[in-house]
Amino acid sequence: MKIHEHQARDLLHSYKIPVPPGRMITSVSHAADAFSEAVAGSPTGEVVIKAQVHAGGRGKAGFVKLVKNKDDAVAAAKFMLTNRMKSPQTPPEGLEVKKVLIAQAAEIAKRGASGHEEFYLAITTDRKSRRNILIASREGGVEIETVAHERPDAIIKVPLHPLLGLQAFQAREVAFKLGFKGKQINQAVGVMISLSKLFVEKDCTLAEINPLVLTPPTKENPDGQVIAIDAKFSFDENGLFRHPEIASLADTAEENPAETRAQKYGLSYVALDGQIGCLVNGAGLAMATMDIIKLEGQKLLESKGIKDKTIEPANFLDVGGSASEEAVTEAFSIILSDDRVKGILVNIFGGIMKCDVIAQGIINAARGFKNKDGSTGFKVPLVVRLEGTNVEAGRKLLQDAKGSLPTLQAATDLSDAAKKVVAAVAG
Ligand code: GDP
Ligand code: MG
Repeated sequence: MKIHEHQARDLLHSYKIPVPPGRMITSVSHAADAFSEAVAGSPTGEVVIKAQVHAGGRGKAGFVKLVKNKDDAVAAAKFMLTNRMKSPQTPPEGLEVKKVLIAQAAEIAKRGASGHEEFYLAITTDRKSRRNILIASREGGVEIETVAHERPDAIIKVPLHPLLGLQAFQAREVAFKLGFKGKQINQAVGVMISLSKLFVEKDCTLAEINPLVLTPPTKENPDGQVIAIDAKFSFDENGLFRHPEIASLADTAEENPAETRAQKYGLSYVALDGQIGCLVNGAGLAMATMDIIKLEGQKLLESKGIKDKTIEPANFLDVGGSASEEAVTEAFSIILSDDRVKGILVNIFGGIMKCDVIAQGIINAARGFKNKDGSTGFKVPLVVRLEGTNVEAGRKLLQDAKGSLPTLQAATDLSDAAKKVVAAVAG
């Protein structure tokens, strides 16, 4: 689960990582007030206006703007709230902006003739070393992807001890490598330690500050200050039950609607790009089902000499070990809400889950399913493979309900099921 930048800033603040104050608005009518609030404490008289969407690359897209007066603030907020933001991290049609952050701008110290003191800092899990790692770079800011790609040596990576986390000596070493001096060192170390604590305590999968900046020297802070001006977090959804305060930050308007619906019914659903909807119990079986669809799809297309087409799963869907009839009905409705779905494969191994319960769920779903043209029942081919507890009762239920399931084909095993659904979709 992702959160917005303004929420990420609050989270950093609660871990004592310095961030400039600001306010989130949802309507242009609040832009002038928010500007006045922000400018009051701004060291340079500058205020930053930032679109709040679950995607980066805003700076380059013109959705981060520095302004010095009320009129420009209102114009920038209006522009962002009425235009879709397009960046390499958004879908091609861009994202609608419903929220804007208006914050005190930070003054960033100069580095050399043309550069600025912008750093990259993140904690994430590294599958290769099977540990959490701290990633840091002296060349943070909007070009970090290019830096990582072209000059990997400019990226520092430090694996973290599974129990001890980021240790002070490691953080100090990174602070030196990043070029911090004098009092900046302890400030940077403090930020790194707090970020790694936050990462673990809140079950994050990513905690990223980009950029972390250094402000120019002042009388009170002769070495400048190390502060965060943009942050991105992702949380492990399986850990959310431990953090209601994080779960409550979810902005469902920013997420795939089908995935949000599935979550409500305890279904693990991930939308994909193919044509075959899958309804499976168990994550491993769901993966195997997706693999075999791809395999049989490829074989069939090759045998027909078709090269410019693919047959692939339209989703990953695990209904879990003990789904109710209601959840199965909902699962069908979610799968069929995707117009690209041209066939469905149900693959159930009845262990805890009984095959007759699933069969009844399928029948109920088919009887209750309303098509867009107002008719009821499934129109797309439906291939069902059932095995395990109460399988005979399940098969009989399906057989007896043939009238409600005109497109149903029963399969004898998984590869038979995959062949049948692929053939039905290929036409
Ligand atoms: P992103 O492009 O979505 O990652 O948005 P950021 O918040 O990281 O902003 C992009 C860039 O705008 C930063 O790398 C900075 O160079 C600049 N920027 C953002 N906020 C401020 C600010 O408060 N003061 C100054 N001087 N520059 C800023
Ligand atoms: Mg950024």
